[in-house]
Amino acid sequence: MIVFNLSCDNDHRFEGWFESSAKFEAQRASKLLSCPVCGTGQVNKELHAPYVNTGATKVAAKPSTTAEGVAQQAVFHKAISQFVEHVIANTVDVGDAFPEEARKIHYSEAPERPIRGNASPDDVAELREEGIDVVAVPIPKYRLGNPH
Ligand SMILES: [Zn+2]
Repeated sequence: MIVFNLSCDNDHRFEGWFESSAKFEAQRASKLLSCPVCGTGQVNKELHAPYVNTGATKVAAKPSTTAEGVAQQAVFHKAISQFVEHVIANTVDVGDAFPEEARKIHYSEAPERPIRGNASPDDVAELREEGIDVVAVPIPKYRLGNPH
């Protein structure tokens, strides 16, 4: 699973989860994608986000009470846990040094590689201001190397 930051022509921003980049392109080409806010099919992919931030635990999905919504949520959560496992397998845990490492990579002071770690909401806001894309991934506590 990969997550893309998406935006529609009306500048609504949201995340989309896809099996692959190719799946995203296919869904977009066949107009299966639509903005969850206004419903337009004019959806664009924003810059790729190479960094992963495991500090936040917010999940985009809102609780739903309809049967369909619950089923969708189950799929969503399964997709997230697969994505989380993928992230853990493919990133280096830099822990609390995450904001610093993300910056170093961004400014080519450290080798480019996928990293994960902890960052406060303030850190994340600062990184984004500097043009560094950070993705919040809800990694369950038991999967973290050094819980605290
Ligand atoms: Zn929209």
